[in-house]
Amino acid sequence: MAPVEIAKDLFFIQRGYLNANHFVWRGERPVLIDTGYLDGYGETLRYLQMLDVDPAGVGRIVNTHTHCDHIGGNRRIQEASGCEIALHRIGKHFIDQRDDWSTWWRFYGQKAEFFTCTRALEDGDLIDIGPHRFQVLYTPGHAADGIVLYCPKSRILISSDTLWQQDMAVMTLAVEGSRALFDMADSIEKIAGLDVETVYPGHGPPFSDFAGAVSRCRGRIRGFLTDPEAVGADVMKKIMIYTLLMHRQVPAERFFDLIRSAPWFDLTAERYFADDRYGVFQRFFTELKKRGLILEKDGVLTTPVQP
Ligand SMILES: [Zn+2]
Repeated sequence: MAPVEIAKDLFFIQRGYLNANHFVWRGERPVLIDTGYLDGYGETLRYLQMLDVDPAGVGRIVNTHTHCDHIGGNRRIQEASGCEIALHRIGKHFIDQRDDWSTWWRFYGQKAEFFTCTRALEDGDLIDIGPHRFQVLYTPGHAADGIVLYCPKSRILISSDTLWQQDMAVMTLAVEGSRALFDMADSIEKIAGLDVETVYPGHGPPFSDFAGAVSRCRGRIRGFLTDPEAVGADVMKKIMIYTLLMHRQVPAERFFDLIRSAPWFDLTAERYFADDRYGVFQRFFTELKKRGLILEKDGVLTTPVQP
């Protein structure tokens, strides 16, 4: 999808689920908000080229959190440009400590590279994306270091994985702890009163029904609080698809072993489900195939979900 100019020289680039959506401010020292997944770096570069932005000229990267689909290009762009990289201070701590667990990379078996975080952001900070001034709002829940960026003047909310249009980003309580659902609920209330015209989420297209998304998200959190197994089911389904996106094509007979090769599967199955491991796998695998989200052809699995 072609980059869309959402404010002067500030472009929104819609990707898919393997690569989070990201932003480029085109100027003398370009600013990037998020940088996709590592394996999608070639495509990330093509988007920068499309906007005449040389990675070696980038002045600053701001990341909405340290998950793999948001920081994938950081290290390479920083090596080329020596750019500043800003994160919420908790995300800076994860990166400073080389903590690949809190960032979920090891838990989910994802590819990512450490980089140097040069600036810690605090809730309420103001950050300039070129001439556009955004407020930093700390919104933990999905990620302990999650932030959203809000521009009161243009009424733009860059909501990352804190607010999506329909669905809600995965809740990994095995890493974040059970209180993360309460953090998420508080974060939604924190942004609910903002005056927003357009939301640019971390995944999916932009949308204007901010109140509707907030109310759906509240309902989803209530559902998770009353039915903990639903949290586990959501992890199973989302990460099976994400694993297929990471590996693109997987021989059907290898999928169960691949799924079990990262810690998330056993820990999630143990936490939420009484069946044996293969039974848990079969249940969600069958459901995803029925829904057409996993395709099998000549013994090879793929997903039609956009990377
Ligand atoms: Zn995320």
